[in-house]
Amino acid sequence: MTVTGAIWRDQLTASERAVLGRVDDVSRVRPDVLVIGGGIVGVSTAFALVDAQVGDVLLIDTGRLGGGATGGATGLLIPEPHQWSDPEPFVDLERAGLERWRDLEAALPGGVGLVELDWLGLAPHEGGYAPHQPRGVEWLNAGRVADLVPGLARPMEGALIRRQGRVNPLRAVARLAARLPAVATGVAATSVEISGGRIVGVGTSSGTISPGAVVFATGRPPVLDGLPLHIPSDRVKGHLLVTERTDVTLPGIVAPLATQIENGQLLAGGTFDIGDETPAVVPDVIDAITAGLAAVLPRLSDVRIAYQWCCFRPRHPDRRPVIDKVPELENAWLTSGHFRTGILNAPSTAAALSRWISAGVPPADAHTWSATRFAGH
Ligand SMILES: Cc1cc2nc3c(=O)[nH]c(=O)nc-3n(C[C@H](O)[C@H](O)[C@H](O)COP(=O)(O)OP(=O)(O)OC[C@H]3O[C@@H](n4cnc5c(N)ncnc54)[C@H](O)[C@@H]3O)c2cc1C
Repeated sequence: MTVTGAIWRDQLTASERAVLGRVDDVSRVRPDVLVIGGGIVGVSTAFALVDAQVGDVLLIDTGRLGGGATGGATGLLIPEPHQWSDPEPFVDLERAGLERWRDLEAALPGGVGLVELDWLGLAPHEGGYAPHQPRGVEWLNAGRVADLVPGLARPMEGALIRRQGRVNPLRAVARLAARLPAVATGVAATSVEISGGRIVGVGTSSGTISPGAVVFATGRPPVLDGLPLHIPSDRVKGHLLVTERTDVTLPGIVAPLATQIENGQLLAGGTFDIGDETPAVVPDVIDAITAGLAAVLPRLSDVRIAYQWCCFRPRHPDRRPVIDKVPELENAWLTSGHFRTGILNAPSTAAALSRWISAGVPPADAHTWSATRFAGH
């Protein structure tokens, strides 16, 4: 029987699940910083702000924590392969992201569920990742690849990058959120009141909150009454599946095939279903993922599917996130459009925002992440 929904929640303990629905009494709270949005980016940012001792931090989310893109993500933390696709400042943010995930794993009692694993990119043709072979990449001939992934349909070379990572994104959210002083799920921000260039009130489904500062971490830029924010964004659907236990054991992440996860199961997919705005799983896309598995590794031809799901990646036109102050407001920050690397970049984004808010220091390459770079779109 195939479950339609992500595997991540089923991997949690009861207490981790409970954190995702945390509802503290916030009726009398006047937070120093209000973080709006309880995906991985908002939770990481709230955690970093608490760590920086900025005062009272309150996190709200309209639903449960991790209920947006975060809860449906693959959870891969793979900065190094992005050297082939992403520009320099972006890869720096990604590398810093993985470093911070490691710091969090070490610093939190019980960690955040970080799993370190290698990434092996199968090259569809000889020299497939050449000519640019960046640092940290080991080029494997077809014999070495066949040792690591026996049974490939045809010989393939590969690029090996060691010590990348992955998390169950909901476990990471739960572990971080458990350490926040105040969380209210089921509370939607609906409006803002602005006076003298500052947000002085945030209207919510549970009444008005008067924060010292606000961070919007709502996936896509927020659309709230009274907030003059016009940043172009869209969303890109993706499908994923998890197989039932198989006798195939992969040496970590094998791109574009699958990732080895717990209990002998494989995680595959991460499609980019451009233009599909429907919220439902499309069986043809799942069939295409399983056909792709069998085409590369025939032993997977009768693999059974345990979980299948889809979700939407928030995206800006240049595929880079916004990490910035809200234009023309003194006490409001925004991060949005983390597209396909929001899990990876959440802790580095959080660190940048927390430094900006607590010490007044904007990130290096601030223009790269600016909210106003889309003028003219
Ligand atoms: C198929 C797929 C695979 C992916 N794989 C990876 C991967 O391997 N690695 C990786 O790094 N990234 C991956 N991503 C991308 C990643 O999931 C996102 O970039 C990331 O989750 C974005 O996090 P976020 O916190 O910004 O947004 P979200 O998780 O969407 O969180 C935003 C939150 O804000 C809340 N919210 C919105 N408006 C309001 C409001 N008005 N009031 C209160 N709350 C509000 C929402 O309820 C939501 O919980 C993948 C995404 C998809 C779809």
